[in-house]
Amino acid sequence: MTSSQLIDLRSDTVTKPSAGMREAMAKAQVGDDVYGEDPTINSLEERVAKLFGKEAALFCPSGSLANQLCIRMLVAAGEELITETNSHIVRAELGAGAVFSGITTRTWLAPRGLLSADDALNIARPDSGPYLVSTTAIAVENTHNFGGGTVQSIGEIKKLRQESEKLGIKLHLDGARIWNAHIASGVEFIEYGKYFDTVSVCLSKGLGAPVGSLMLSTKERVAKARQWRKRYGGGMRQAGILAAAGHYALDNNLPLLKVDHVRAKSIASAVAAVAPKVIDPATVDTNIVGLELNSLKISASELSSQLKEKGVLASALGPKYLRLVTHLDLTDGDVEEVNQILAQLLQRALVP
Ligand SMILES: *Cc1c(COP(=O)(O)O)cnc(C)c1O
Repeated sequence: MTSSQLIDLRSDTVTKPSAGMREAMAKAQVGDDVYGEDPTINSLEERVAKLFGKEAALFCPSGSLANQLCIRMLVAAGEELITETNSHIVRAELGAGAVFSGITTRTWLAPRGLLSADDALNIARPDSGPYLVSTTAIAVENTHNFGGGTVQSIGEIKKLRQESEKLGIKLHLDGARIWNAHIASGVEFIEYGKYFDTVSVCLSKGLGAPVGSLMLSTKERVAKARQWRKRYGGGMRQAGILAAAGHYALDNNLPLLKVDHVRAKSIASAVAAVAPKVIDPATVDTNIVGLELNSLKISASELSSQLKEKGVLASALGPKYLRLVTHLDLTDGDVEEVNQILAQLLQRALVP
């Protein structure tokens, strides 16, 4: 089976730029962005900053870099950033906060990654004196990737802001999929932006751009982050070609995320119809379907191999945790096929 025939549900990063997006990229006005002269990057930075009610934004080649620049602006070497145990920042950025910025972390564990302000506040230790590490920032991931694309409660975010502000602790939003959170919850971007000192967003996930993320904050922090981006080797030249894809994605692809959400729910329902212990469709908020295989003998990697034989790619992210992610490049037919294949394989796995 060639890769073009495979239905790829490993991530929403696997999308390829559409014809319309490629056309927008080809037509983009460009300049040298290290000199601040790329009009398409400048307009994208202004657009996204404004969308979240922030003073400024910085275009970055990856979401990890955007996250790392954000937390570097909030936390000094030898201070700590606290976050949920399965956050991307602590699990999937290869220790970058420690390697580049001397940032240490402690984490709290939350079911499905769901934020409870008290969980964070209970372990927060600001101004810890000369012998203990001081907490200077808290990171919140929305939607929560390894939590299964879960949407954070705006009430908990608000409470966390109120309480952390009293403690002098800053807040960072890892909003790689904040677009999905907005579509699912109806909460405006500006409302999400209001509670955080720094925000990172990705254009290369569900929005379907090939490359691109932004970090958002005050003018001062963004100016400083611009220097660090260059130091890290992330200064790009005529990258307006990439920013044009971002503009196109925001103009055209944002409303399409709701289709991804419906399809994820449909996959979850097809699974639950056969194996209800594996997933509760009610817990699927957005475009990520996390299958918990603890009740079955089969491991995530075994199920993933069986799916692959049938032409479906999924991610085994834990011994018993398999992730399927819906995205722009799927058709209704693909989803139907996935549903049938999953039902068949799980039925087989249920036989003792
Ligand atoms: C994908 C992702 C990022 C950034 O990933 P890159 O691959 O570096 O662009 C950050 N946070 C979360 C939650 C993500 O899912």
